[in-house]
Amino acid sequence: MPEGFDDILLVGTVFVAVTLAAFWLAMVIWAYRDMRSRSRDPLAQLLVAIIVSLLSVPGLFIYIMLRPRATLSETYERALEEEALLQEIEERPTCPGCGQRVQHDWQACPNCHHRLKKACVNCDYLLELPWNICPHCTTSQVNYTSDGTIATRSRHVKPAEPSPIDAKWVASQQVERH
Ligand SMILES: [Zn+2]
Ligand SMILES: [Zn+2]
Repeated sequence: MPEGFDDILLVGTVFVAVTLAAFWLAMVIWAYRDMRSRSRDPLAQLLVAIIVSLLSVPGLFIYIMLRPRATLSETYERALEEEALLQEIEERPTCPGCGQRVQHDWQACPNCHHRLKKACVNCDYLLELPWNICPHCTTSQVNYTSDGTIATRSRHVKPAEPSPIDAKWVASQQVERH
């Protein structure tokens, strides 16, 4: 046996042992961090770290097979996406005439020809039918009722009724006259 071979063997063994120990520690830390990104339960996080530290490489494989599929941030993002999709469906308007889906910028329903919106007479900004002033340029508008027909002034103006106080006063005047 050559001189110093034992020393080389010792150094080699220590090197391998340290590398393995570092690898084992990295595995435990990785599994703990990975579980922390997938579960808020501190007990589950600790359990994963213990299992991987006891079983080392096989423990890591078992963890990877059994871990929750989505991380917390992925779950959160998916929930946000679903919410946005749901909101889009709720906000999409339908035709009051036939119930078909219509777009925000349509003036009439292509299915039943129901009047949906009107364009401002001055600036072409799209207005709701009952609006009689353009919020964009403040021009007065032709009025449409909600059923799509043009509303005439006479239909809106009711004959003035005397208020209860006025009626009492008129009655008292008539009593005095008699
Ligand atoms: Zn329609
Ligand atoms: Zn306008």
